[in-house]
Amino acid sequence: TARLIDGDAISRRIREELAVRVRRLRARSGVVPGLAVLLAGDDPASHVYVRNKQRACARAGISSVRYDLPATVTTAELVELIGNLNHRDDVHGILVQLPLPPQVQVRRVLEAIDMGKDVDGFHPANVGGVVVGEPLFPPCTPSGVLELLAHEDIEVAGRNVVVVGASNIVGKPLSLMLVNHDATVSICHAKTRDLAQFTRLADILVVAAGVPGLVTADMVREGAVVIDVGINREPGSRRIVGDVDFEGVRRKASYLTPVPGGVGPMTVTMLLQNTVTAAERSHSAAVDRQMSHPA
Ligand code: NAD
Repeated sequence: TARLIDGDAISRRIREELAVRVRRLRARSGVVPGLAVLLAGDDPASHVYVRNKQRACARAGISSVRYDLPATVTTAELVELIGNLNHRDDVHGILVQLPLPPQVQVRRVLEAIDMGKDVDGFHPANVGGVVVGEPLFPPCTPSGVLELLAHEDIEVAGRNVVVVGASNIVGKPLSLMLVNHDATVSICHAKTRDLAQFTRLADILVVAAGVPGLVTADMVREGAVVIDVGINREPGSRRIVGDVDFEGVRRKASYLTPVPGGVGPMTVTMLLQNTVTAAERSHSAAVDRQMSHPA
């Protein structure tokens, strides 16, 4: 049976290291990393995610401020608020919780974020950075997946990796990041014919489709590494399940991530990491400015 990859435990270790970086930054500069979270409307899942992110910030010593906006918020209002936050010294990261209400132009909102504060990595210029292998901020869920593999010493280079799901926030950026680590990557999506013929080739199978039970044991090669990104509410219950038939695939895979407790906590951890990095960079930039223009 598969070894379970404990995302909670790996997260805990990384978050302890981040808390040390936060204390060091504060001691030498007085800077407290700050995250602004914009939440529009009343999608219950979004509220849960934002609450988890803010709680994790507090534990790591990051100050977070939440902006609750009505479901009727306009693109212009969001762009204006982001413009103000871009200029604030105490805000190092800006996160817009997706999805936004249907009347909002998501592209324009994401483009309004100062690239140096784009801790979710969704600004088009950061997406371009992913393509060429040097994003200013790597997107959180994909980098969480890579971090899990690295922590388990699972080699990516030269392996057959199949990614099921091609969204802009998970499947596509993750696929490119894997290519940048020299994996051979197939990207599957809802229009893929005979999904199983691809998944069976995978040394490493990453599933991010949002379809509970999509991947069953017969679709998985003996000894494969299976990463389940899915977070789905089981119909008719409050239980959270992934996209992978956990019990079946567990008997066949060599490694498997549980849901919850696999990729989910890593996404939040990578957000904390990006926010701390943003604060450290803004402090170094301030020091550089002072060195070149001493008072
Ligand atoms: P999305 O709906 O934007 O994209 C889903 C992708 O899966 C699309 O490319 C679609 O073509 C593909 N797909 C859908 N049905 C399929 C099928 N039957 N066969 C093959 N491909 C299929 O979703 P998303 O935002 O990328 O999220 C995917 C899942 O990951 C969701 O369950 C979401 O809740 C979860 N998620 C988890 C985290 C985390 O932190 N663990 C972060 C983001 C998303």
